[in-house]
Amino acid sequence: MDYANTPETTQLRDMLRRFVEKEMPREAAQRWDAENVFPRDVFERLAALGVMALTVPEEYGGAGRDIVSTMVVIEELSRRSLAVAVPFIMSACYAGMNLAEFGSEAQKRELLPRVVDGSLMFAYGWTEPDVGADLASVKTRAERVGDKVVVNGSKRFCSGAEICDFIFALVRSGPEGERYRNLSMVLIPKDAPGVTITRINSMGMKGAATTDVVLDNVEIPAAHIFGGEAGWNRGWEMLVGAGLDVEKLEVAAVAVGVATGAFEDAWTYAHERQQFGKPIAHYQSIQHKLADMKTQLHASKLMLYHASEMATRHERCAVETSMTKLFAAEAAKNIALECQTIFGAYGYVKEVDTERYVRDALLIPIMGGSSAIQRNNIYKWTNAGL
Ligand SMILES: Cc1cc2nc3c(=O)[nH]c(=O)nc-3n(C[C@H](O)[C@H](O)[C@H](O)COP(=O)(O)OP(=O)(O)OC[C@H]3O[C@@H](n4cnc5c(N)ncnc54)[C@H](O)[C@@H]3O)c2cc1C
Repeated sequence: MDYANTPETTQLRDMLRRFVEKEMPREAAQRWDAENVFPRDVFERLAALGVMALTVPEEYGGAGRDIVSTMVVIEELSRRSLAVAVPFIMSACYAGMNLAEFGSEAQKRELLPRVVDGSLMFAYGWTEPDVGADLASVKTRAERVGDKVVVNGSKRFCSGAEICDFIFALVRSGPEGERYRNLSMVLIPKDAPGVTITRINSMGMKGAATTDVVLDNVEIPAAHIFGGEAGWNRGWEMLVGAGLDVEKLEVAAVAVGVATGAFEDAWTYAHERQQFGKPIAHYQSIQHKLADMKTQLHASKLMLYHASEMATRHERCAVETSMTKLFAAEAAKNIALECQTIFGAYGYVKEVDTERYVRDALLIPIMGGSSAIQRNNIYKWTNAGL
């Protein structure tokens, strides 16, 4: 296993590298970051390559569920810009993978073809003002009223809410006290009456801006209960099922992409920048930084593609995906900061991509389950014999 380098994934990587060079030049990536905008035209051209189909079963018009290839796409896009990588995740993973895994037959038939053609995105509405790591304590309520569901509450750090079609929200749907059995997932159209979206001015991950979402008596049809009628009060099962394993891998793939971009720039700079009559790469302190970063990147990639192969085969991989997320996220943070050191003063200015890689990398150990939560789970699940 060498980063899952099959002829197919090599071909996919080559195609994406050509796409990134042509459609996502550095200047454009800098502009999307500075203006916090989503380049929908570039996203549509990405969809035309057929990569959204990688998470969708063939019977719904997709290419089959291939998590390794999906991670290759995330890695290659993140190497240049999260303004395209995150919307790809919102479409292929948040929508495609969850629908394929847990959607009702009617939802799969209606929505999966829209994943394939790039016209459907979900935003995750899980976190709330008082709810971070302890997701089972969400307060947003959903109540059945006739053939409708009425949702009240608020979601925080809902990334991409402005550009999505549906907010994929975790809601409290049953009586209090029955922790884990009183939660559902619902699909809330982002422009439904009663939905108010306000931007949060975050440090990085620009393009799919993160937001506060207030839900005030939002009425949705019962058909928007995720998984159909059978999905009511089964939200936790969906959240901790295969969906969460793949989410950890998505974040790890972002980590590998961001860290690779930062590392490649630092390598080039270290060989170009001259001080005391020599390229700074001549000095052993710089060489050791580069060697350590390359080693961390190699280990991150091996873990990412090993766990992705397990997930593709539907093997139990909760511990492997947590270890991958923990290791790759911490490595990306360290690598980005070390690259900034190599760039010296230039790593601190907006015109140099290293500054953006640092801001993006600092988020990675926080989102998708913090490093502390991954450590808790690795111990707990290993101790339980998983
Ligand atoms: C830019 C950005 C984008 C985001 N996008 C989304 C999104 O699209 N959708 C979404 O739902 N959420 C999103 N999030 C939220 C993110 O997933 C949460 O921030 C994360 O789950 C942690 O929650 P918290 O920040 O409230 O931390 P808290 O849970 O309040 O934790 C605070 C600190 O305590 C530690 N801690 C908490 N509990 C424990 C414990 N049991 N053991 C040890 N340590 C513990 C944590 O590791 C952390 O260091 C985003 C966040 C950011 C910053």
